Amino acid sequence: MSGFILANSVLTVFLVILAILWFILPFAIFGTKKKLDLLIESSGETNRLLAKLAGENTESTTTLTSEVQAEQIDEVETKKNDNEINLELIEQLKGIKAVGFNKKFSACDICHLGKTGQIISNHYVCSNCKTKYL
Ligand SMILES: [Zn+2]
Repeated sequence: MSGFILANSVLTVFLVILAILWFILPFAIFGTKKKLDLLIESSGETNRLLAKLAGENTESTTTLTSEVQAEQIDEVETKKNDNEINLELIEQLKGIKAVGFNKKFSACDICHLGKTGQIISNHYVCSNCKTKYL
């Protein structure tokens, strides 16, 4: 008889706990809805920022590419003038002792070979040409 009462009370306790859990379950499920909405929203924001970043990257790559191309064209044109000594400029600059320096380097205006920052009367002149011709 006491065994029956014990089994009955254990079953009752189990059913009470089950009833409580069953009552809480919907709240637990619907409670995640807010968090899911937030997650979807921030995921959209992340994708938007990534797209923006990818766009910026493409732009800067394009700019860089055209800059590199301009530099290569510059080099080709410089090479075309190789071994063409600007005699006219030598005559013009002969005797001028004032030498300046520019932060921006450019090909020598006389030999068109090496890049130099040395300037004589607004013309780029490399040290070689200065020693050799002026
Ligand atoms: Zn030179």
